[in-house]
Amino acid sequence: METKSTFVTDPPQRRPTKIYAIDPMMGRIPGNRIGIDVLNEPLEAGPVGERLEVIDYDGAHKRFYPAVNLDDHAILMQGGLDHSESDPRFHQQMVYAVAMRTMETFDRALGRKISFRSRKYPRLRLFPHAFHGANAFYDRSLHAVCFGYFRADENEPGANLPGQTIFTCLSHDIIAHEMTHALVDRLRRYFLEASNIDVLAFHEGFADVVALFQRFSFQELLADQIQTVHGNLREKNDLVKLAQQFGQATGMGRELRGALDVPPNPTMYRDTFEPHQRGSILVSAVFDAFFRTYQRRINYLIRIATGGTGRLPDGDLLPDLAARLAREASRAAESTLAMCIRAFDYLPPVDIRFGDYLRALVTADYELSPADEYGTRAAMIEAFRVRGIYPDGVISLAEESLIWPTADPGLPNLPMEMMETLREIMSAANAFSRTKAPSPTSATKFSESDEGTDRDLSHEASVKLWEWANANRAALMLHPDPNMKVEVHGFHTAFRVSSTGQLLTEVVAQFAQADRSSSEKRGGIPLRGGTTVVAAADGKVRYLIAKPLPSANLTDSVKKQAELRVQRQEEYLRLFDQADPMMSHFSAEELSKRMLRRGNFAALHFG
Ligand SMILES: [Zn+2]
Repeated sequence: METKSTFVTDPPQRRPTKIYAIDPMMGRIPGNRIGIDVLNEPLEAGPVGERLEVIDYDGAHKRFYPAVNLDDHAILMQGGLDHSESDPRFHQQMVYAVAMRTMETFDRALGRKISFRSRKYPRLRLFPHAFHGANAFYDRSLHAVCFGYFRADENEPGANLPGQTIFTCLSHDIIAHEMTHALVDRLRRYFLEASNIDVLAFHEGFADVVALFQRFSFQELLADQIQTVHGNLREKNDLVKLAQQFGQATGMGRELRGALDVPPNPTMYRDTFEPHQRGSILVSAVFDAFFRTYQRRINYLIRIATGGTGRLPDGDLLPDLAARLAREASRAAESTLAMCIRAFDYLPPVDIRFGDYLRALVTADYELSPADEYGTRAAMIEAFRVRGIYPDGVISLAEESLIWPTADPGLPNLPMEMMETLREIMSAANAFSRTKAPSPTSATKFSESDEGTDRDLSHEASVKLWEWANANRAALMLHPDPNMKVEVHGFHTAFRVSSTGQLLTEVVAQFAQADRSSSEKRGGIPLRGGTTVVAAADGKVRYLIAKPLPSANLTDSVKKQAELRVQRQEEYLRLFDQADPMMSHFSAEELSKRMLRRGNFAALHFG
């Protein structure tokens, strides 16, 4: 029996805190100044926790602001510091809380904790007042998210005061968006290399998807907006507008972007080049599927409430009905977002296309809930189709053709040593649902880029995994040339509870290779190939998700796909060069690295 004292001293699981659900400009609209809770972890002043570290250095004024101690009794007793535009300590609290929320959303969907440990830094660093400027960005080399602040437009400040100071670190969407860039970079480090027109757009679109959906978990705001739009979420409302204060303060006269910006139109996917705009096509597809799911979830409620007619009377919704609709909206948002994040385990390691993302979405979701109870999967397929997004190399858009092909049954199981690591992690997994998770262990020498990779794998197990991949290059569609070193990335296990209540365990590993012979010609980006392996708990390989480098070993159809990738990379480089007014001013050195620089700039900035 547990002693009484142990029971009494157990720390609470959650920490209450306060944030703006939208931003300070939205003021006191219901549901904007809210209290939320985040995972409770011991904090030092900063806040500095296990994976996040807020550093309040003002880059423009070259000074530090005093750091908040959220474990201070006085602050704890108020459930966090009160909302304040002028108190830097509230800014620190809000950045920490929203970043924690975003991270927890990923942890929950993926069934594991994403590590932010790198060789140089133990945690991701967040700088709430990093610089003077109307932007915010994630920077891999700094291992940090940097938020700017600026003065609102003097002539067109929108609902702000002319010249008022605007803090990007007080916008929920900007924090969640930039935090998502950091998380995605841990999951797929080569998605910051602009190897085709979709790659950076995917980073941007996905970051907006997370920021927008996260808002649906704020009950007070949700209930108020459901009432405002009379239950019809497709009508424009504050939930689906991204970065309102930022957009207005920079003189746009409206929010920066929104979930409803892009009506379905296949020519946009063909013709849109700028990563944020192209990303909006992805956002609109995902939201389309979400709206359909929500509609399907509430149809019966509307029928009951209207005696079967389906037509709601004018005027306010009955509070009971509004509350039920809000609950369904929040559940639909949560499950759609989880589906979007889970797809990551089924993505190739390099060179993503929107069509690959659709295939990953469908496969991951099919594995977890084959029945598709609310039709979300079918709605996703339809939403991508009407936007002209078709995956390469599939014969139809039927669910069974979109699911990634299963691996050749002749492929040997993953090595036993690795499976032992898995068992260790599994024994720690019980603790996962509380606060502890498998701790990330030392990085290996088998990748050129350990620094940015999320994984939990001992050195020894890494070696075994690397040997296994080398011994099975042909079956894994890796290039046979021994000069093309195989890198091991992102090995991890995932635990998920399916819709039927079953615990599913998976092992995922990524292998990548680079052909650097033509990097200079390609603006600094090599040709990369790679394969994601999804295996069952016994090591049996189930899916191979491959983007091979062209080689004589491949079957004709796979070789054709590989050659198409090379062509696309070249086309995209030409497209970028044509649009870049600086092209004729670059030095030879700059020219040879131009795609690397463009990738960093275009994808990482918020606006
Ligand atoms: Zn961005």
